[in-house]
Amino acid sequence: METLQQTKDIHRLTLPTPFTVGPVNVYLVKGEKLTLIDVGPNTKEAKEALITQLDELGYDLLDIEQVVLTHHHPDHTGLLELFSAHADIVGHRRNEPWISRDEDFINHIISFFKEFLPQQGITGDMEKWIYAFFNNEYLTAPVSLTHIIRDGDEVPGMSGWIAYEAKGHAQSHLVFYRESDGVLLGGDHIIGHISSNPLLEPPYFGETERPRPLLQYNEALRKCLKLDISVVYSGHGKEVRNIAPLLERRFERQKQRAEKVLGYLKEQPMTAFEISKKLFPAVYMSEMMLTMSETIAQLDYLEYEGLLTIDKSDVSWKYGAK
Ligand SMILES: [Zn+2]
Repeated sequence: METLQQTKDIHRLTLPTPFTVGPVNVYLVKGEKLTLIDVGPNTKEAKEALITQLDELGYDLLDIEQVVLTHHHPDHTGLLELFSAHADIVGHRRNEPWISRDEDFINHIISFFKEFLPQQGITGDMEKWIYAFFNNEYLTAPVSLTHIIRDGDEVPGMSGWIAYEAKGHAQSHLVFYRESDGVLLGGDHIIGHISSNPLLEPPYFGETERPRPLLQYNEALRKCLKLDISVVYSGHGKEVRNIAPLLERRFERQKQRAEKVLGYLKEQPMTAFEISKKLFPAVYMSEMMLTMSETIAQLDYLEYEGLLTIDKSDVSWKYGAK
């Protein structure tokens, strides 16, 4: 374990995950409340690593007074049950249906994707597969938020830290910024070694449109550029300094990906799934939700730029270049 040198009140704990992304970072922050930012996936290995690394810092699980969530994904929230009896659980309101394992919400997700995926060119019986993706063994046992925070709120028990909404990778995503030293606890919004996947999510209850995660993501990154960030402590990998050139490269790379897709569509109209096969020939089946999210993201971007036609006359939609 590495203790971050410049900020003695923040410690990084790195926990193993069963996911392709690799280990996850959670952070112990010594505010007025002893706080854990995220908790790691629901595995024996992550739990052991968490207990050992807390112990090395002189704490045990019961000392943690609150957990503050960056977003709802299982590598960040899986072990919440370890804390729910004695600690506050703080986060964006959109964590709630995921971490409470709301049955109505899970059914809502399944019915959304059962309609959406055939439109994108994926056929066959998807119900089991969708259920498995959104209901895997690494999720938290059902727990509830005790405190909801919104964009611009100061984080309770962590004075000086402001929460900012950073949608894109997840609709529940917040980042936490401390102006006095420019530290950003960035979750999966900014990761040094990989670009964050703009994951597909259904519209939440009361909404009719699905979110356009890549467009949200780019907007949230631009918002970060306006903050005076000295270092980002990320959900995965090393800390990131000097984010402006990194983000410029990401925007550039993003444009190139969209242009690549537009190049395919100039040759012939295609479904999103056909595009996904061309973009990710090795993993389009095994990582379907991630690769389809990435593909739809490019199409959302091109549509937003006014470069796309969408033929919805058949069950499967055909995308073309304008
Ligand atoms: Zn993550």
